[in-house]
Amino acid sequence: MLLSGKSKVYGLFGDPIAHSLSPAMQNHAFRHYDIDAVYVPFHVFPEQLSKAVDSLRVLNIAGVNVTVPHKEQIIPLLDRIDPATKLIGAVNTVVNENGVLVGYNTDASGFIRSLKINMDFEPSGKQVLILGAGGACRAVLVALAFAGVKSITVANRHPERAEKLIATLARHFSDVALFATGYDEQPYQDGLDNADLVVNATSVGLYGETLNFLPLERIKGSAFIYDMIYSLSKTTLIKKAHDLNLLCDDGLSMLAAQGEDAFALWTGVQPSPGFMRDFLIRRRTNM
Ligand code: NDP
Repeated sequence: MLLSGKSKVYGLFGDPIAHSLSPAMQNHAFRHYDIDAVYVPFHVFPEQLSKAVDSLRVLNIAGVNVTVPHKEQIIPLLDRIDPATKLIGAVNTVVNENGVLVGYNTDASGFIRSLKINMDFEPSGKQVLILGAGGACRAVLVALAFAGVKSITVANRHPERAEKLIATLARHFSDVALFATGYDEQPYQDGLDNADLVVNATSVGLYGETLNFLPLERIKGSAFIYDMIYSLSKTTLIKKAHDLNLLCDDGLSMLAAQGEDAFALWTGVQPSPGFMRDFLIRRRTNM
């Protein structure tokens, strides 16, 4: 990679960070689109986040991605937050606009784009079942509500967490029917029967575990299954969905799409659909 005196610097704040695929993905895109820039992983410990954010201004770093555990903590340290990102309450992309640091959430926009590009799924008017009620669920819920879905059921092991999430967001989305439930309650059974899209936003499956609380056989044949988890091989949920001939996709698509949207915010260039996903799939195949 040839850098010049005008090269722009981008990066990633996280802890841990060594496993991240973003540096390879973003630097590949800079090379492909002939952009004079570099993307660097910055291992930032929680107690150093404030100083790290200051360094963006001091060193004129053009933008960063933000990952665990900084996505929420970085918000008060920024100058401006995009409105949808405010509702999500988590930032994964920062753009340095001439010293003004603006926070965005491209997990949300990337999720919707990956649904449309990879699964030809149009969210408008659809019924959605989300499993899990953490940060990933919140980003997906806000994105789907803005995209005009008809209803969203959030099912969680601890139902009170789902209830709290819905109570926080309901007043912003009066056109969307929102339900909170546990896995042994009737609204969950209704959610399973009616879902056009089922999203696994729990951390179950990360290490090959099975989602015992998701009876896929019950889902209608036309429904889409989206596992937010990504791994080097197919997740157990994706394997089972394949066996049942259900349309499905995993978190690699979302990882790629959030990266493409961050790249577009930074450079003004929207990578061609699937550009980063193809790169990640090639890497996955070669690993
Ligand atoms: P959180 O820790 O905030 O939430 C974890 C969720 O998983 C909670 O709802 C929790 O339920 C549930 N859960 C954990 N263990 C179990 C279990 N044994 N049985 C049932 N439910 C369980 O995590 P996030 O929301 O930030 O992330 C969730 C997943 O999404 C992660 O695996 C992450 O890798 C993935 N993700 C993928 C992205 C991508 O780009 N593909 C982007 C962001 C996230 P409870 O509240 O009851 O404890």
